[in-house]
Amino acid sequence: MRRLEASDLLALWERGAPRHALDRSALLCAWARPDVPADAVADLPLGTVTAALLRLRTETFGARIRAHVDCERCGERLELNLAAGELLQPVDDDAVAPREIEVGGLRVRAPSLRDLAAVSRERDAEHAARLILERCMRHDGRADVVLPEAGLRQVEDALEAIDPNADLAFDVRCAVCGHEGCAQLDAGELLWDEIDARARALLGEVHLLARAYGWTEGEVLGLSGARRAAYLAMVAA
Ligand SMILES: [Zn+2]
Repeated sequence: MRRLEASDLLALWERGAPRHALDRSALLCAWARPDVPADAVADLPLGTVTAALLRLRTETFGARIRAHVDCERCGERLELNLAAGELLQPVDDDAVAPREIEVGGLRVRAPSLRDLAAVSRERDAEHAARLILERCMRHDGRADVVLPEAGLRQVEDALEAIDPNADLAFDVRCAVCGHEGCAQLDAGELLWDEIDARARALLGEVHLLARAYGWTEGEVLGLSGARRAAYLAMVAA
């Protein structure tokens, strides 16, 4: 996995900023997985995308993840300190073909970014989840397959088994009220927020060093992080 250097990071930030969150995830995943054809990224199993984004994040920003979640019961803001490596299940992500499994006589494939995008305007989360599963069931020439109510849980369990990294879920215990719940990490959102913050910081550094030394943007970004920090300290002194 390659890491995002300053100029790559700024280029991706510029392209991703006007896009929808799902398109940003596709953009970053395509950069992280140059071995996958660009038009196939939207059809990768979500767990493959999540793993690629989290590995790119680890290479670029380190393995520790500091995030926060609000307690479901009392609303207390809980600080999280997670290790990226502990969130991912070991899965062979090199296989680009959609993962499929048979549940109750139906073939079901793992959902992709394209499936999420198709239901992104749906306001009811449960209905959206159901629409996604119906999109992922192979119809084999039959009319639209309607998912039986009782089978929903079964299909979700089967999909979790074939694509375990689709949801990065972990246990959280509230330090204030003791409530024990489950939280989820959105790898795309996490990585984008960090790229956004780093890009704005980099532009500030370019601004200061270009003004102080007359260097071009390219020259400033071509410096290593350590050299940029050393010059910035001299400019500030
Ligand atoms: Zn609480």
